Amino acid sequence: MSRGKIIILSGPSGAGKTTLYKKLLASRRLRGKLVKTISITTRPMRPCERNGRDYFFVSRKMFMHKKTAGHFLESEKVFGNYYGTPQKQARDFLAAGKHVLLCIDVKGARTVCRKFPRAVKIFIKTSSLAILKKRLRKRGSEAGSVMDVRLETARRELREAKHYDYVVVNDNLHKAARKLYKIVCSKIQAKPESWNKIQPKP
Ligand code: ADP
Ligand code: 5GP
Repeated sequence: MSRGKIIILSGPSGAGKTTLYKKLLASRRLRGKLVKTISITTRPMRPCERNGRDYFFVSRKMFMHKKTAGHFLESEKVFGNYYGTPQKQARDFLAAGKHVLLCIDVKGARTVCRKFPRAVKIFIKTSSLAILKKRLRKRGSEAGSVMDVRLETARRELREAKHYDYVVVNDNLHKAARKLYKIVCSKIQAKPESWNKIQPKP
């Protein structure tokens, strides 16, 4: 039996999952205990991203090859591109006693929960679609038509929130980060430090 726990973050595109998990992983209390798997995707790399840090960016042919070879714990087509969680990476982390953070879509989350029923599921959302839209516009990582698809999908994904163990509303970043931190600490039995103390000074 592995000692590590799986922690899943899902939520609509633009809700702030990436921003929040980066803060979480940077917290002193969780450093080295909580690790994130790096997914493999066929989506084009954004200017701010780095191969091997944010994702492993591969061709569709390579992705399908890996899928057939059983490389993924789960994989899904999201917004027209493929994304998959590397099976070995996740299982190796768990076997080493690390807690594993997966930032994956709601369908992938269902697959993981079938395999790991004790996974902790956290849903990140904003209080309105208008906020989401504004954020996606500001991030500017998608063309207009792709953004529309992301917003349409968001409506569907939001209905899944009720199946999650926790819902974190990320309107105020500081409050959301603190709430997420507290949830994760409670689940992995790490005593939380004062969130203000562990945040880097602006
Ligand atoms: P996701 O990973 O869920 O798609 P991101 O973390 O990329 O979302 O966040 C989308 C955009 O919104 C980014 O430009 C990010 O800087 C911004 N953002 C995230 N959280 C907040 C917040 N609480 N308030 C304002 N902007 C935010
Ligand atoms: P983005 O393109 O904005 O980075 O991610 C789009 C969506 O794909 C988000 O919901 C994100 O959580 C999800 N995603 C990222 N990696 C994976 C993965 O490995 N598997 C699944 N199922 N979804 C993923």
